[in-house]
Amino acid sequence: MTTPLRTATVVVIGAGQAGLSAAYHLQRRGFASAIDEPGASRTFVVLDAGDGPGGAWRHRWESLRMETVNGIFDLPGFAQPPIDPREPSRDAVPRYFAGFEREHGFPIVRPVRVSAVDEAPDGRLDVSTDDGVWRATAVINATGTWTNPTLPLYSGAETFEGIQLHTSEYVRGDAFAGLRVAVVGGGISAVQQLEEISRTATTFWYTRREPYFLGQDFTPEVGARTVEKVIADVEAGRPTGSVVSYTGLAWTPYALAAKQRGALERRPMFTRIEPHGVREADGSFTPVDVILWATGFKPALSHLDPLHLRNELGGITMRGTQVADDPRLHLIGFGPSQSTVGANRAGRAAVAAIARMVDEAAA
Ligand SMILES: Cc1cc2nc3c(=O)[nH]c(=O)nc-3n(C[C@H](O)[C@H](O)[C@H](O)COP(=O)(O)OP(=O)(O)OC[C@H]3O[C@@H](n4cnc5c(N)ncnc54)[C@H](O)[C@@H]3O)c2cc1C
Repeated sequence: MTTPLRTATVVVIGAGQAGLSAAYHLQRRGFASAIDEPGASRTFVVLDAGDGPGGAWRHRWESLRMETVNGIFDLPGFAQPPIDPREPSRDAVPRYFAGFEREHGFPIVRPVRVSAVDEAPDGRLDVSTDDGVWRATAVINATGTWTNPTLPLYSGAETFEGIQLHTSEYVRGDAFAGLRVAVVGGGISAVQQLEEISRTATTFWYTRREPYFLGQDFTPEVGARTVEKVIADVEAGRPTGSVVSYTGLAWTPYALAAKQRGALERRPMFTRIEPHGVREADGSFTPVDVILWATGFKPALSHLDPLHLRNELGGITMRGTQVADDPRLHLIGFGPSQSTVGANRAGRAAVAAIARMVDEAAA
């Protein structure tokens, strides 16, 4: 039996920090649940692939604790309860998100995976899922990056007889006790995981470029300058890089601990992977048992491919949260809003713009 076509004024895809912020602002502006009140004049629904609340935080590695996250901004109007700094973020944050969802009773449907967003015959957008199609006047995409890990192609990778894993599969450092571990990547996750692994294993750190450590703290001014640079990139249609490519790395306690242990001795990228190790840039061979690809994530947007949003630079040209030239489509938790505070603000901005569009259409 096929599920009938359902409609909503706004479909939000994803219920992480960004999607929940959008849901909060939609509800505040009087958008009703498309599930409970499908006949209302303005409705919304949130479709989320997760099995429960928490967005990507459900999947963070066990040893990423509340004291080692960069800092999680409160959801709109909902202060975080006192949290044990030693608690894994993958437990504490989903519990906090669940409380927010309960408080507001948002129409969140999960687990529902969106496979495609495409033009509808009547000028709206069709959102296809593993549970039928939603037709929407506007779509707010808030799918984050976690489900799109970046795995660079290196020659010989398929011949490696040890363990290869990506940051997204990492659980805790002592899983590699006594082994020789190559950690690849120059971002925050790479440094955190390198520090943990180096407590009980021999590590080798590979990055394409010399890592750049900030000589100063990550102040609000540094944050504001970073956001400006990312905005300039997305408005020019350029693909954005990792956060660290804009900010540099901070001398956090774990970075200092790694440095003291000698784990931050960076090597240039190896040239080839062999069955029992890696061939170094200088031609020598380093035996390793594990290669950890701490090589980051890219925005999870493949379901938007039918809309052909990418330009010749490979980026998506944006005007604020809106896809340039398409007021029906907003990307939040994307580009300059890829942080918990940015996600909050982007949710509010996207909803304000869509509410204006709906008002104008109704006038
Ligand atoms: C390791 C790591 C640590 C970080 N630490 C911090 C930090 O301390 N502070 C900070 O501000 N930022 C941090 N960030 C950035 C952080 O990810 C964002 O700030 C924010 O949590 C992302 O929220 P989001 O709503 O955009 O995405 P997510 O939390 O990833 O939520 C996306 C949701 O969309 C769903 N989804 C994805 N694809 C589909 C689909 N096709 N159909 C339906 N649903 C879908 C997912 O299931 C998920 O529930 C970190 C990022 C990483 C990778």
